[in-house]
Amino acid sequence: MTAEKTTFEFKTETKKLLDIVINSLYTERDVFVRELISNAADALEKIRHESITATDVFDDDLPLEITIELDEEKNTLAISDTGIGMTREELENNLGTIAHSGSSSFLEDLVEAAQKDVSLIGQFGVGFYSAFMAGTTVRVQTRSWDKSEGNEWVSDGAGSYSISEMTGLHRGTKIIIELKDDAKDYAQQWKISSIIKQYSSFVSFPIKLGGELVNTVQALWTKSRNEITTEEYTDFYKFVANATTDPMYQLHFSADAPLAINALLFVPTENFEGFGFGKVEPGVNLYCQRILIDQHSKTILPEWLRFLKGVVDSEDLPLNISRQALQDNALVAKIRKVITKRFLKHLNEQAKKDPEKYLEFWATFGIYLKEGATSDYEYQKEIGKLLRFESSKSDEGKPVSLADYVLRMNPDQEEIYFINGPNRASIAAGPYVEMFKEKDIEILYTLEPIDDFVLNHLGEFDGKKLVSADRADLSLAKDEKEEKDEEKTTDEEKQAGEDMDALIKWMQEVLADNVSEVSISKRLVDAPAMIVNPDSYMTSSMERIMAANRKDQGIPGMEASKKKLEINPKNDLIVKLFELQKSDVEFAAQVAHQIHDNAMIQAGLIVDPLEMVERNYKILTRVVQS
Ligand code: ADP
Ligand code: MG
Repeated sequence: MTAEKTTFEFKTETKKLLDIVINSLYTERDVFVRELISNAADALEKIRHESITATDVFDDDLPLEITIELDEEKNTLAISDTGIGMTREELENNLGTIAHSGSSSFLEDLVEAAQKDVSLIGQFGVGFYSAFMAGTTVRVQTRSWDKSEGNEWVSDGAGSYSISEMTGLHRGTKIIIELKDDAKDYAQQWKISSIIKQYSSFVSFPIKLGGELVNTVQALWTKSRNEITTEEYTDFYKFVANATTDPMYQLHFSADAPLAINALLFVPTENFEGFGFGKVEPGVNLYCQRILIDQHSKTILPEWLRFLKGVVDSEDLPLNISRQALQDNALVAKIRKVITKRFLKHLNEQAKKDPEKYLEFWATFGIYLKEGATSDYEYQKEIGKLLRFESSKSDEGKPVSLADYVLRMNPDQEEIYFINGPNRASIAAGPYVEMFKEKDIEILYTLEPIDDFVLNHLGEFDGKKLVSADRADLSLAKDEKEEKDEEKTTDEEKQAGEDMDALIKWMQEVLADNVSEVSISKRLVDAPAMIVNPDSYMTSSMERIMAANRKDQGIPGMEASKKKLEINPKNDLIVKLFELQKSDVEFAAQVAHQIHDNAMIQAGLIVDPLEMVERNYKILTRVVQS
């Protein structure tokens, strides 16, 4: 029956993975049954899709189903499907290597995640290997739909596997597991039946166990909302998302015109990208008349919604559409737009209904909406409503919406202000917010580097411009009294004004290499100086990111643009600097440079630390000597 047995070594990381699976994962073993059934269902979906267009399918008349056979005496469990099968080459590629192991920390991430929760193993695309949690030997007998001969793959998970030709197989795959002594349960009907009920009841093909049908095949999303129980929704979510927890949000949405769409979307409770293993695959599957045409579809939703799980079904799509054709299909683009807008609206409704819960969502998935705001012009308006930022009037950790900000705006305030910084405390202590505090104007704190990009892309909200508070041309509305105060000039004040003009002229010469201009600040209250940005688009935080990117990419040169320095004529240090500059110009120049560097640091910008520290010591030495 078998011939030409060839033995192969597993790839190094597969070996490591198997070692982990076999030796350190004992809890939640049930997971392996779910993984193998899910692979069988995938294989069936693939052949169902292929046979729509292909004329030449091997064993085309086989019913599409999954069969489970148990043998308590021999201690075996076998799961067969009449799916797409695997060729010899596919066997080698699919069951000898790890397909999705892009990053070097992949295995560490996996071990960490799996030790927390073994069911996460499927999320890493290594579900098949979980068979070794319960099996001493695993056999895979498979024959591809392309009519080539069948093969048997055998391994004990210890480092190698063999493949030999096997005749007489039908299309599809049979996986036979010889169970470990402490895993004999899995040869018992009640055990397998309860696992299927728990995890696999939504598999859209019949699952037969001991000749009996154990699942009800149904497309939940095509039923009407009031016919579906909460439990069914949750179970379905666990099934499509391979999840063990309840979803955070769910949206079941149906439309008939202009497009016939049934969509069932879920927001999970966890963000897998947050676990540090690269971009997650999209989690929404595209169906047409209940037939899966694109699993983990990259086209049915924008990329920044890749954290969603669920199903989209549209009868309007041609059944035989290929994956490539989906990408530039105008109908798909329309469906994408409808669903995306509907989902964003749903989030907004949920945010109003339960703001606390929305903040949880925001903390976990807000980063994706920010990505959308910077990359997808089409939905900016909708995303704008969903953004949350901390502000001078918010409690710590309780970010506010732009709409809330607008409601609180002063009557004469026309713009929405924001300032970037590493945390609330350092922003609140910095020079940029002084005038805002004094005038009781709310200012948003953008604590993440991407935030300034988001707000710049948005440009405005509700007709109000979004303005970074480190801009040079910032003018906070003055009240009448202040304007009068400014007009009224005594002789003394005139003299002070002239002194300041002289100081500015001098500082401009001293700092000619560092700043584009020095000017009197109308905004500073206490601090001696601050850096502002002449460019209306570039904020200091964006400058910082771009400098870091240039460094990462090894692009040399490209000096950061020169900033403006504003000084505070009411500040003692500035007043005294004018005197010092007359008596000891060299030392005064050192102080001017130090003021500039300090302001740069407060703006989060880079200064030369060697030069700065050396100068600082010189100044300190002068202080202790006098
Ligand atoms: P994933 O399902 O995430 O791709 P698995 O480790 O579960 O990862 O499976 C690896 C690959 O092996 C699958 O992508 C598929 O190509 C192949 N495979 C596994 N089981 C079957 C099956 N029953 N029929 C056909 N191919 C299968
Ligand atoms: Mg799998």
